[in-house]
Amino acid sequence: MIDLFSLIKDTGAYRTVKAEKESGRLSHAYLILTQDKENLTEYLKIFAELIACKDGNPCGECRTCRMIKDGVFADLFVYPKNGQAIISEEVNELIEQSYAKPIESDKKIFILSQAQNMNAQAQNKLLKTLEEPPESVCILIGATAEFSLLPTVKSRVKKLEIPAFSDQKIFDALVKDYPDEERLKEAISCGDGTVGQAVLNYQDQKLKEITALVSDLLLNMKSSSDILEYSNKITKSKCDFATFLSVLELKLRDKLVKMLENGSKGQTQTDQNGFTAGALVFALESINGAFERLKFNANATMLLEWTLFKILEGKYKWQKL
Ligand SMILES: [Zn+2]
Repeated sequence: MIDLFSLIKDTGAYRTVKAEKESGRLSHAYLILTQDKENLTEYLKIFAELIACKDGNPCGECRTCRMIKDGVFADLFVYPKNGQAIISEEVNELIEQSYAKPIESDKKIFILSQAQNMNAQAQNKLLKTLEEPPESVCILIGATAEFSLLPTVKSRVKKLEIPAFSDQKIFDALVKDYPDEERLKEAISCGDGTVGQAVLNYQDQKLKEITALVSDLLLNMKSSSDILEYSNKITKSKCDFATFLSVLELKLRDKLVKMLENGSKGQTQTDQNGFTAGALVFALESINGAFERLKFNANATMLLEWTLFKILEGKYKWQKL
């Protein structure tokens, strides 16, 4: 889990809500703006914890905090339930629910995430609740931009902004989950000051690296000593084994499709890397086998070497036919 709380707790937005809670003057609705589309809902949940936790920090450990994290807190409603935009039916549900008394705490909290995608009809429906909110209701609207929100909505909420974070702060928040430090620094430096973009960049670069490694391997792996060499390279790249297998599978499937499209019928015809159609099918079956074994916590290095060996074995076995 990325430590988003360590980032959010130092923002003005967080301090504002905390102070308002402590003085018993929480607004009935907030608009929280952040560029971080990927983590928007998670940020809003932290605010929900802050509002609902009896400890008030929030503690992150009490029953309330844990239930909010697990998505089972009876007084918290998170929209959209599916997809990227809140729909009118969900606003109807919100209106209905807002009249019922809270069960677990003294506040009923509604998270409206990705509000930048809400259409005017859904926003208009929300207006009355924003104008005359029932006593114990708190609505947290989150958006990456405010221009698509109706002025009538904006005028009835308290606007707070989560700013871009410094490279160092993002690094500290991510390094535990994304341990390749050099890559992480690069991912952050070409990001936009959000955790979400840094993670996307990190994964994208990783993927490019793995793809290059897989192409190299399919072209140049010829003997069992090569297997060890590539197994070391892959281990050193710190890539997740399942991701490696997926990239490998995609490449091989691609090769097979191309070969069949080109009308290869003979089992002796090979592609530019020396694979026959039979060898590719055999390799794909082996990868399936590796995925299966991975489910049972097989040793990743041994499984990696086994997979590479199988690919090589198939390559030569099917050439001799
Ligand atoms: Zn708590």
